[in-house]
Amino acid sequence: MTAMDERSRADAAPWAGRGSVFSQAGLARPADWATPDDLDRLRASHGRRRLGRPLVPTSVASPRLDDELFARLLSYGTPQEIHRGDVLFRPGDEDADLIVVARGSVEVVRTATADVPAATVAVVDAGGFVGELNLLTGQNVYLLCRVRGAGTVYRVSPERLRQLMAIDVELSDIVFKALIARRELLQRSTAALAVEIVGGARSAAALALRTYAARQRLIHLWFDADTPAGRAMMESSGLTEDDLPAVVMSGTTLKQATPGGLAEKLGLSYRRSSTKPVDVTIVGAGPAGLAAAVYGASEGLDTVLLDGVGTGGQAAASSRIENYFGFPFGLSGADLTGLAVLQALKFGAQLASPCQAVKLDADRNGDLLRLHLEGGEVIDSKAVVIATGARYRVLPLERWPDFEGAGIYYAATELEARGCMGSPVTVVGGANSAGQAALYLAGRGSEVSLVVRGPDVAAEMSAYLVDRLQAHPRVTVRCRSEVTRLDGGDFLQEVSITDRTNDSTQAQPCSGLFCFIGAEPATSWLTGIATGDDGFIRTDVQLNDDDLGPAWATLRRQPLPFETNIPGVFAVGDVHSGSMKRVAAATGEGASAIASVHKAISTLV
Ligand SMILES: Cc1cc2nc3c(=O)[nH]c(=O)nc-3n(C[C@H](O)[C@H](O)[C@H](O)COP(=O)(O)OP(=O)(O)OC[C@H]3O[C@@H](n4cnc5c(N)ncnc54)[C@H](O)[C@@H]3O)c2cc1C
Repeated sequence: MTAMDERSRADAAPWAGRGSVFSQAGLARPADWATPDDLDRLRASHGRRRLGRPLVPTSVASPRLDDELFARLLSYGTPQEIHRGDVLFRPGDEDADLIVVARGSVEVVRTATADVPAATVAVVDAGGFVGELNLLTGQNVYLLCRVRGAGTVYRVSPERLRQLMAIDVELSDIVFKALIARRELLQRSTAALAVEIVGGARSAAALALRTYAARQRLIHLWFDADTPAGRAMMESSGLTEDDLPAVVMSGTTLKQATPGGLAEKLGLSYRRSSTKPVDVTIVGAGPAGLAAAVYGASEGLDTVLLDGVGTGGQAAASSRIENYFGFPFGLSGADLTGLAVLQALKFGAQLASPCQAVKLDADRNGDLLRLHLEGGEVIDSKAVVIATGARYRVLPLERWPDFEGAGIYYAATELEARGCMGSPVTVVGGANSAGQAALYLAGRGSEVSLVVRGPDVAAEMSAYLVDRLQAHPRVTVRCRSEVTRLDGGDFLQEVSITDRTNDSTQAQPCSGLFCFIGAEPATSWLTGIATGDDGFIRTDVQLNDDDLGPAWATLRRQPLPFETNIPGVFAVGDVHSGSMKRVAAATGEGASAIASVHKAISTLV
């Protein structure tokens, strides 16, 4: 058989009736996704350094499916004839489909922005599929998909994709890994220019935006407004200093942008596609809420997870968690919670952030609990899990609010540390989080003063951290001491530290004050919920008869594990009275509460 004959047979039924279509060179070559080198070249042209991170294996991003698997994938889709030039999706579209190419060829294009021309991001021929993680996150489309060569595609709707993920483990693994790998590749390809963020490197508003983008794993590119690349980008987009921070996307520019405004544009705010009530709404996407979402969704509950800031909670601010079960070499909180987000999405949980819960009606409306969101929307659900954790305590110092995000930080990750690298910093606090931050910052070349109010650093800190701090040449531990004054212009430049043993005060340079002095429970949005004197929420055996109102008499049951005094409302993690304030404890509580949610829901019917 000649190559021509073979090709025409393949055209007749490209995935069936012969060996793997992928053995036919040129017929079904794997999708050709733009690589990080493209972005490096692009960045180099902006005078920026190479990223140097490893490539995602092409075999994962562009898997070769054998005939049987490919036919199974097609069976989830609806066929559509395509013609050269047809547009299959475009930036701004909601609810994109996974597009499986049975015949023909399509290309994925990042459309032109004010400062860069359009670029082809991927070419997908017969045997491949088009799609990335936004299929699961619900983010609006930010690229364009156009037909290169006529043929047939099969559209797999988000609903059908979730069914595939739930039913077909083998296919689900391949497709899910490809979606994740593509997000990695796209973040480091020219596609990142689809969402450009520009702002001051030390601006609190820009940091909030970048933190949100990083935690959501958004495809984006950051421009420091004080660099030539940043200035060039601002000029070509017609932006002034007053507009910062700004986000430039295809067809839209957000000036003085906020995470909420960006989420709205990207379609990541809360929106309900189904008219059915939610089984369980989880408020707070830290470790406790994420664990509840993973277990809720994986056990078949229609699960919504909300966070007022972004996914990850306090844990995402931890540069290195060394005591999480099963990770002897530690892992970053952002990695741990980032993987949990993917897991929750894979099982079909709906995530929305930033999305602040402002009120929970204590009385059930029939079988449902009503949760009110900041934007005025309401969510009716059969059960609610409160996983809102705790908020950071601050020092009562003049100018503290001025320097928040501009020299005062509540986390010590790469994002915060970058602005202080090599300069002196101050860490306040005597618990493990302060010790970890001090070591991390010292490891990045800063002289670190660790300011501890108590007489002994070992009182609240794990012994392994105390030993390392004492051995580190760039860490000075100052016990019985307090920060008593802050100075600087737009950014923090100096702190005064008072030694309480003799009340002497010394001013010293400080480009970053990292505050780790504990937290208050995030419960101010709740009414009618039983708490302890310290404001943390009491549940099950912590409740007494006086806490349990008339609703309990009709239910004829006692509160279930993690259930509050409001039937069907649960509290887990750091917000829970007596909790251990550790990641493992929070995830354990979040997962365990789902067993109670099942029982509570079953008593409703
Ligand atoms: C820097 C640092 C280092 C740490 N290191 C370790 C460690 O090494 N090991 C360890 O075990 N623990 C560590 N911890 C503690 C650990 O991170 C917490 O115990 C854990 O994150 C608690 O999880 P959570 O889900 O209960 O709450 P959180 O992680 O606090 O998450 C709560 C979430 O709820 C959201 N929220 C609050 N109110 C609302 C609302 N009204 N509407 C919507 N969303 C809301 C918040 O935005 C937040 O994302 C560290 C903490 C910090 C800050």
